[in-house]
Amino acid sequence: MSDLINASLSELSAALAAKQVSSVELSTLFLDRIEKLNPIVNAYVTVDRARTLAQAAEMDARRAKGETGPLLGIPFGHKDIFCTEGWLTTCGSKMLSNFVSPYDATVVSKLKQAGVVTLGKLNMDEFAMGSSNETSYFGPVKNPWDTKRVPGGSSGGSAAAIAARLAPAVTGTDTGGSIRQPAALCGLTGLKPTYGVCSRYGMIAFASSLDQAGPMAKSAEDCALMLNAMAGFDERDSTSLQRETEDYTRDLNKPLNGLRIGLPREFFGEGMSADVRAKVEEALDQYRKLGATTIEVSLPNSGLSVPAYYVIAPAEASSNLSRFDGVRYGYRAPEYGNLDDMYAKTRAQGFGPEVKRRILIGTYVLSHGYYDAYYLQAQKIRRLIAADFVEAFKSCDVIMGPASPDTAFAFGEKSGDPVKMYLSDIYTISTNLAGLPGMSVPCGFGDHHLPVGLQIIGNYFEEAKMLNVAHQYQQVTNWHREMPAGI
Ligand code: GLN
Repeated sequence: MSDLINASLSELSAALAAKQVSSVELSTLFLDRIEKLNPIVNAYVTVDRARTLAQAAEMDARRAKGETGPLLGIPFGHKDIFCTEGWLTTCGSKMLSNFVSPYDATVVSKLKQAGVVTLGKLNMDEFAMGSSNETSYFGPVKNPWDTKRVPGGSSGGSAAAIAARLAPAVTGTDTGGSIRQPAALCGLTGLKPTYGVCSRYGMIAFASSLDQAGPMAKSAEDCALMLNAMAGFDERDSTSLQRETEDYTRDLNKPLNGLRIGLPREFFGEGMSADVRAKVEEALDQYRKLGATTIEVSLPNSGLSVPAYYVIAPAEASSNLSRFDGVRYGYRAPEYGNLDDMYAKTRAQGFGPEVKRRILIGTYVLSHGYYDAYYLQAQKIRRLIAADFVEAFKSCDVIMGPASPDTAFAFGEKSGDPVKMYLSDIYTISTNLAGLPGMSVPCGFGDHHLPVGLQIIGNYFEEAKMLNVAHQYQQVTNWHREMPAGI
C-alpha cells in the first residue's frame, strides 16, 4: 500500500483498472493518513469521511459498470476557495466559516464527472490573499519539509497536502502566484493556465481579471491529466474561452532539441537568494544537455509588476468584498432571518487584518481623485507588461527563471512587513497581469534541504508545450519524486 502514496496518477489509474485496489480502499488510505498527520500539518480544514467514502463507492460502481478513465476513482483535495456541494466552503475566512455550498464549482464538477473523489477541503490564506498561509482563519499550514516554515500561499494547504502525501493531487488557484510559489516551496509541480482556460464559476473571487484555477501534483504528467479534466468552456463564466478541446498530454514525449529558452535579464538580477540561483542555473544546464539553447531576453517593465498588482488586485477585491453579504455565493443561513439582519451579522463577523488592508487600498485607489493617479496608471502598466512578453516570445519558445526569490521562510519572518511578503511573488505576478500560463517545477534543494522551484512561462495557450518541457526534465531528474523525511 505504501507505494500507492507515492504513485503517479497513471500508476493509480492502472492499479484501479487492474483491481489491485478499489477507490474506497485508496480513499481510506489517504483518509487514514490525514487523520494521523493533519494535526501536524493543518493542510485540511474540512474532512468528511462518510461523504468521501460514499463518493468513492459511487466511482467503484461506475467502474464495475464498465466505465474507464484516467482519473476514475482517484481521490483529490480541493482548495477551500472552490464551492463543493454539501461541504463547507470557507475560503479561509471567518466570514464563510459556516457556509455550506449548495452547488459545485465548474472545475469541481468537471473533475467529478471524470471520476475524482473529494478527500476534503484545503486550508488557504483568507480569500487567497497571502504568500504564507499565515492569514487563514483556521491557523497556519506547516511546510512538511520543515514544520517551522511556511508552505507558501495562498494555496498552502494544497501544496502541503501533496508534500505530506495526504492527497495524490489537488486543485489550486493563482491570482499572483498562489499555485507556483507554494508548489516551489513544497517541492511540487503546479500549473497556472492561460487566463480563461479553466472556468471561474463557483471559485470564490479574489481579483476576477487575474484569478485562474490550476492543477498541483507531483509531476508534469499528473498536471496534464488533471488539466484535461479541468479545462474547457463554461457559459456560466463570461471570461471562459471557447476553444477546441485539447489533450494536454499530447506533447509530453517530444524531444527538446532546438527548444529556445528565454532568460529575462530582470529575473536574474538582485533579489534572488544564492541557493535558488544555483539550482535554477543547474536546471538550465540540464536543459542544454537535453538539446535546448538559452538566450537572454528582456521584460523591461517587470519591475513594476508588484506595484501594479497591488493596485489592481485590491481594487477588484474591494469591489467584491466591501459589499460582501453571503448572498452573492447563493446561500442564506436560516439563522440570519431577513436580509438586513444577515448583512449586519456577516459584517460583524469581520475580516482578518490582511483582507481589511486590501479593502482599504482598493477603496482608496478607486476613489475620486485617486483613480487616475493609481488605478488607471496600473492598468497602463499592465498593458506594457503584456507587451514585453509579446516581444520576448518573438525570440524564444518558453521563458524560464526562479518561481520564488527564496525557499520556504520561517513563520513570522515576513508577516510583519507587507512589502517583504508581497515581494514573494515578484517572479510570478507579471504572468497573471499578462494572462499567460506559468508553471513551477522542482529543481533541487537549497540551504537546509528546502525545495527550489524552476518557473516555466509559456506563450498564450501553450500549456501542452510547457508540460512537455517540464516532463522531459522530469524524465532525467528525480527532484519531483523526493518526499520530506519523516512523512
Ligand atoms: N501573494 C499574492 C497576494 O497575496 C498572490 C495570491 C494569489 O495568487 N492568490 O495577493
